[in-house]
Amino acid sequence: MSIQSIQKYEKSVEIRTKALESLLVEAGLVSTDALEAIIKTYENELGPQRGAKVVAKAWVDPAFKERLLRDGTSTIAELGYTGLQGEHIVVVENTPKVHNVIVCTLCSCYPWPLLGLPPKWYKEAPYRSRIVSDPRGVLKEFGLELDDDVEIRVWDNSSEIRYFVLPERPAGTEGWTEEELAKIVTRDSMIGVAKIEPPVKKPV
Ligand code: FE
Repeated sequence: MSIQSIQKYEKSVEIRTKALESLLVEAGLVSTDALEAIIKTYENELGPQRGAKVVAKAWVDPAFKERLLRDGTSTIAELGYTGLQGEHIVVVENTPKVHNVIVCTLCSCYPWPLLGLPPKWYKEAPYRSRIVSDPRGVLKEFGLELDDDVEIRVWDNSSEIRYFVLPERPAGTEGWTEEELAKIVTRDSMIGVAKIEPPVKKPV
């Protein structure tokens, strides 16, 4: 798909969304204020920065990490992160020998309360099919080359379960605060298509 055809497609989705919105408001089914509030939440509050806070906390607090891996949903709810597409979250941990990556082979299920809305490529057919058949090759295209002895586990999100990747803490971050650590955690590392590679610079 060319960039132009994607932009054209996005424009048509935008127009249809606007049309649907005015119909709902006109029919008195929703208020513009309510819609604005929902959109603001998705734009400003929901996003990978939440997942990053979970990861940073797990890196510095072993008891939290243990609970997180055992019962993701309620442990994440401790931080107030709940809601749509987060009803059942399972956290999978990356280690030097196991690399986890998430996908939704059927559509675009994604842990919204932790990562916000999914990137475009996550929703598209090539990623959804190829990450299952050739995970090593696809990760390589993302710039992530894993050694042959690293096991790759692909987790298929569904309407029931949303997986979330706990990336490895990079070397050289010893003694950093939770806030500093949260700033270096990327969205792609929590999807599993990237690592947080050392050396990392301490955020200011
Ligand atoms: Fe889906």
